[in-house]
Amino acid sequence: MTTYSPVLCYHRIGGPLELGVTRVGRSVFARQMTALARAGWKTVTLEQYGTVVRRADMPTCNKFLLTFDDGYASLADNAYPFLADLGYTATTFLITDYVGQTNTWDMRYTWDRLQHLRWQEIERWQARGFDFASHGATHRRLTWLDDAALASELERSRDLLISRLGAGAGRAVAYPFGAADTRVLRLGTLGRVVAHAANRCALGTSLMQVIGRRSSVVSTLTTDNR
Ligand SMILES: [Zn+2]
Repeated sequence: MTTYSPVLCYHRIGGPLELGVTRVGRSVFARQMTALARAGWKTVTLEQYGTVVRRADMPTCNKFLLTFDDGYASLADNAYPFLADLGYTATTFLITDYVGQTNTWDMRYTWDRLQHLRWQEIERWQARGFDFASHGATHRRLTWLDDAALASELERSRDLLISRLGAGAGRAVAYPFGAADTRVLRLGTLGRVVAHAANRCALGTSLMQVIGRRSSVVSTLTTDNR
């Protein structure tokens, strides 16, 4: 039987409040990560995650993949430095057309214009061991696109990531809204690791609400292994 490491999926850390439910406060996030570190949990890189997933014999109960969707610029202030101090890494799924731009794609949820990470910041954190991958080119729901638009959305994003950040940045995609079907999976060419990560999208924050009780955090993370 294949064993999976948990995947925690966050979106925005700190910054203005929003209508949606994907923002987590900066101090709340710091408390959650600190509690995990004290309980012995370690993060894995995207490449290590692929290895862990494929090897059923590897003990995975204290390792997890920490992910951020959408790539907001505030991660560079409110999340990455704190994670680096803990010895943690993370994988951020970027909406590649919006790198360096504001969030016109989800203004209806956030009210405010929010800045996305710039390439220079992405490259700086990549050099410090953080991973970056695709969240599509424009955050469109992939299952609603025809074949040509779907291929364009995935390939354009992947090609840009590879040209800016190297081949490793082209190995994974987190599907916007977690929406995927067999057609998306086939065209995605990215395999099981990605689908697994994408399906965990939005689960992370609710799982982490039990962080105050350390033992239940550990059992939640270890039993949630489908
Ligand atoms: Zn998203």
